[in-house]
Amino acid sequence: MLIKDITILNREMQPVDHVNVLVENGRFAYVGREELPVYSGTVVDGANKLMMPGFYNTHCHVPMTLIRGFGEGLSLNDWLTKKMFPFEREMNGEDCYYGALLGVMELAAGGCVSISDMYFNIMDVARALDEAGMKANICHGLSSSDPGQRPESLKGWKDTLALLEQSKTGDGRIKVDVGLHAEYTSTEPLVRAAAGLARDHGLALHTHISETRKEHEECRQRHGGLTPVRYFKACGVFENPVLGAHCVWLDEGDREIMAESRATISHCISANLKLASGIPPVAGYMEQGINVVIATDGAAGNNNLNVMEEIHMAALAAKGAFLNPAALPPEQVLKMATVNGAKAQRREDCGVIEAGFKADFVILDMDKPHLTPIHNVAANLVYSAQASDVYMTVIDGNTVYKDGQFPTIDCERVKYECVKRVNRICGRLNGR
Ligand SMILES: [Zn+2]
Repeated sequence: MLIKDITILNREMQPVDHVNVLVENGRFAYVGREELPVYSGTVVDGANKLMMPGFYNTHCHVPMTLIRGFGEGLSLNDWLTKKMFPFEREMNGEDCYYGALLGVMELAAGGCVSISDMYFNIMDVARALDEAGMKANICHGLSSSDPGQRPESLKGWKDTLALLEQSKTGDGRIKVDVGLHAEYTSTEPLVRAAAGLARDHGLALHTHISETRKEHEECRQRHGGLTPVRYFKACGVFENPVLGAHCVWLDEGDREIMAESRATISHCISANLKLASGIPPVAGYMEQGINVVIATDGAAGNNNLNVMEEIHMAALAAKGAFLNPAALPPEQVLKMATVNGAKAQRREDCGVIEAGFKADFVILDMDKPHLTPIHNVAANLVYSAQASDVYMTVIDGNTVYKDGQFPTIDCERVKYECVKRVNRICGRLNGR
């Protein structure tokens, strides 16, 4: 693929005009201003377009598209226990497969190239993402309420190992993390075992941390005053690279542990707002040296998988909630959603448009009234652009979305299957 005479965003999120980009074998083969020889493959004309690194959605539960809009106006605790868990108990592998494909279409149409996903039936989720051409770090969110249960006997444990084996024969797009749902949904033996599993296989550990004040305070009551971060540290969790979702209620000691252990915080601002969990001081976390990255969470929580909306809201919330108009400038929040997200997935050859990097990118149509004029490209992208401005999304050199079309997915079939499956589950929940 050759992208001709386009404006790209460089590593510092600054625009560079009149660039030719050649993609070969899934990577950027050339990025620069030299005239390239006549090319026989796909050629994209860069006029009025902008090319930037694709978005990394670092905390998602992609099959939850099927539960979008099902639990409204509830606290996280009621939302989970009264609406989400009962629905999820009815979801089989094929439901998760089709829910994941539905999610991929929404993600790709909004410029997302990779997700860090936590769910169950992960072999089916992985199959959907792999077939659709998505990139993902997948984990099963291990959970248990029985201290006597052997962690190795859990389906999620076995699936984690099976997917790890399967991923070794793939092209690197699908990777595996160890998932631990949260402190409040696990036992201490399970937390210690999950930490050990990650250590034994050199994997990252993905978990929810201090999402709500209730969770944070109840953990302290359960564990002799230890916050979720301190409790996880005591259980060996931070001996691994940790991806902690939310981290709304961290205290100073928690932040020091996260910074010292080089952990990553996945910031899901719209879910935190909608479920009334609070607004984490992410600009402060970043000043302390913690890698903070952007995520949507599942579509049941904030009701969409629109990473551009998260970028916008993260930039606004950091300023408004902490009375600092200089917090999270546009270039910084764009890096959080791209190259820093790639680092959180331990993909060092992704997230930047430079020769040798994986060809993950988004092309936006800039010929729009709401993007005119352009005083500052990054500001236009963060505050003015819409997901519908995405013209094309490419993952490892393969086009997964272009101009309203999904070349890797049968869109009508997936929508039909999803509605049919949701009707079946809701019928059972309603006792029909
Ligand atoms: Zn989550």
